Amino acid sequence: MAQRVFNFNAGPAVLPLEVLEEVQGELLNYQETGMSILEISHRSKAYEAINRQAEANLKELLGLGDNYRVLFLQGGASTQFAMIPMNFLPPGRTADYILTGAWSEKALKEAKLFGNTHVAATTAEGNYKRIPNLDEIQLSDNPAYVHITSNNTIFGTQWKTLPSFGEVPLFADMSSDILYKPFDAEKFSLIYAGAQKNLGPSGVTVVIARRELLENNPKDIPTMLRYETHAKNDSLYNTPPAFSVYVLNLVLQWIKKQGGLVGMQKRNEEKAALIYHTIDNSNGFYKGHAQKDSRSLMNITFRLPSEELEKTFASEAEKAGLVGLKGHRSVGGLRASTYNAMTVEGCRVLQQFMLHFQQKNG
Ligand code: PMP
Repeated sequence: MAQRVFNFNAGPAVLPLEVLEEVQGELLNYQETGMSILEISHRSKAYEAINRQAEANLKELLGLGDNYRVLFLQGGASTQFAMIPMNFLPPGRTADYILTGAWSEKALKEAKLFGNTHVAATTAEGNYKRIPNLDEIQLSDNPAYVHITSNNTIFGTQWKTLPSFGEVPLFADMSSDILYKPFDAEKFSLIYAGAQKNLGPSGVTVVIARRELLENNPKDIPTMLRYETHAKNDSLYNTPPAFSVYVLNLVLQWIKKQGGLVGMQKRNEEKAALIYHTIDNSNGFYKGHAQKDSRSLMNITFRLPSEELEKTFASEAEKAGLVGLKGHRSVGGLRASTYNAMTVEGCRVLQQFMLHFQQKNG
């Protein structure tokens, strides 16, 4: 078997080795059921326990009480782009979107299919290098909600201080940075995230919402696209992505063992500092895409002096066991995704590789 590599892919992404080993250990016989978790009925006691625990663990990590619920849905974060306006944008109201990258644009595009929208701020000029300042944000009159993307996976920018807008419900796509550090989750009426970056494997999308948003949703939308359907049935209205939820629950337990969100923050700051420090001390050989005050701790985007060198960098890195570093086509260059499960060691190895590469080619 080839050795495990350092996986810097943007998602699906690296999972904690301890979690993979646990999955391997109980893959053939899940907790004495005599069946694999892949074969188990979602109506079994064993799966119901996983489903319950995953909700409880997520709420515990976020410090949320009984006024919030967690749903495990399918269709990716991309389906949430549409479900949100279908459920929460009534006729005659306006939904406000803050555009900080390609994913917020996609969220807005879906909302436009269902009602009035307003762009409350955008940093598209300059190819989304930064997060807007609070004084650049202009809300419409009495918006139904404000939508933000907390971390911009493609551009490598991230809200350092999450905004809030008083009584206006705040919704966030946290697909690429949920649980990366402690934050005040109560500021948000609804948070959603595809699992395949910081939470687990692909196939499940997490929705965390205030209870009252999960009741009395419009009756004229498809059953599967109403939040209420899933809330009433504890995410078991139809067959859930059981394996993904099971692994997600193991990842949540792993985060708790690492010191929870405080532990994640320490680890993530240490990792990102190694790479940003190398970029900043390279005399311009490496150039970050994001403006310094908007830099993401999860996706580090940078360029080299030429596209040719960028290609060589990615292919030589791969040979050295550092994979998934090619940047997204809309930004170019390189991108190191350093989600929760990426180790400090992985980032040290990348740092050393960057230093040697510069010595050889600078
Ligand atoms: N939002 C963000 C911030 C993302 O990074 C992604 C995926 N890369 C998506 C939404 C889309 O997620 P999915 O593929 O789960 O629909």
